[in-house]
Amino acid sequence: MKVDRVVASRFSIPLPYPVSDATHGVITHFTLVTVQILTRDGVEGIGYTYTVGKAGGRAIASLIEDDLGPVIEDRDPRRVEALWKAMWQNTHYVGRGGPASFAISAVDIALWDIKAKASQEPLWRLLGGFNRQVPAYAGGIDLHLSLDELGTRTQRSLARGFRAIKMKVGRPRLREDMVRVESVRELIGPDIPLMVDANMAWSVEEAIRASRRLAEYDVFWLEEPTAPSDVQGHARIQCEGALPVAAGENLHTLEEFEALISANGVAFPEPDATNCGGVTGWMKVARLAEARNLPVTSHGVHDLHVSLLAAVANASYLEVHGFGLDGYLESPMAFTSGYAEPSARPGHGVSFQWNQLRRYLET
Ligand SMILES: [Mg+2]
Repeated sequence: MKVDRVVASRFSIPLPYPVSDATHGVITHFTLVTVQILTRDGVEGIGYTYTVGKAGGRAIASLIEDDLGPVIEDRDPRRVEALWKAMWQNTHYVGRGGPASFAISAVDIALWDIKAKASQEPLWRLLGGFNRQVPAYAGGIDLHLSLDELGTRTQRSLARGFRAIKMKVGRPRLREDMVRVESVRELIGPDIPLMVDANMAWSVEEAIRASRRLAEYDVFWLEEPTAPSDVQGHARIQCEGALPVAAGENLHTLEEFEALISANGVAFPEPDATNCGGVTGWMKVARLAEARNLPVTSHGVHDLHVSLLAAVANASYLEVHGFGLDGYLESPMAFTSGYAEPSARPGHGVSFQWNQLRRYLET
């Protein structure tokens, strides 16, 4: 089996409604970068990554076609570790994170799709096949919403069958966050896990204070309380605060996860396969977490992550993210009564309706 062609495309996808968090403000679009890898014997692998707004999208697509495609062409796509290493080395000087990690991720996801299709296996089973039922939460991106709107959005998530909810925190005053978290907790009752996500809004001291106060509402985890590179700060927030910390959407290398986990800076590592090195990178982080007796969760791209969480023994919740692709997929992820299920078809099961995407194509 040999790689014949690697094609990258990018699409500016409008969100069904604007979303907001403490770092990005109000978001109206995301950029989807897709990769199609075609083998000489006609197998097609699909990979993808995304960015917030437009920043970085063109650079990622260029890295894929100009710098990664030539590395993997004429190679056996099933030798994913070898190709991953070759891509990493080829972008080493300008990479080890940033757009290079996003580009490698997209290609790696397509390589795993080919490997699973060639093996006639669904990806979740090829990778380990631990448990097809993955508990999932609604990842609300809702910092700008009024209390009433926040309540309506939460009720909509419950009506869709979610049995765990995440909301944003990081308003200008902690008092505002307290009121919002209290109102959502009252609405969902005591039995539904409630996560909060600060999107790096706070200093370490502010985060410790918030962690202690928010614990009053039985918060399941506190996500990204402070700057992702402040390893010691995360350790202090876990140690001196009152809530376990989730983090990882802004860590783009295995080594960054290793540093944070080793320092006891995170209780729920949250790798995103579209920016930490693809399926290969995500699985390495999952194993690293397992060795430290930690669960692993996921960020974004639930249609793909459901297969990865179903594969491993230490899966925590799947985030069902606001940047949904449901309208652009041949068969969106199955979800009922709080649980998501991966595709049973060979491959990772994510295939795009290109005719729906075409109108958003960026050139
Ligand atoms: Mg987050």
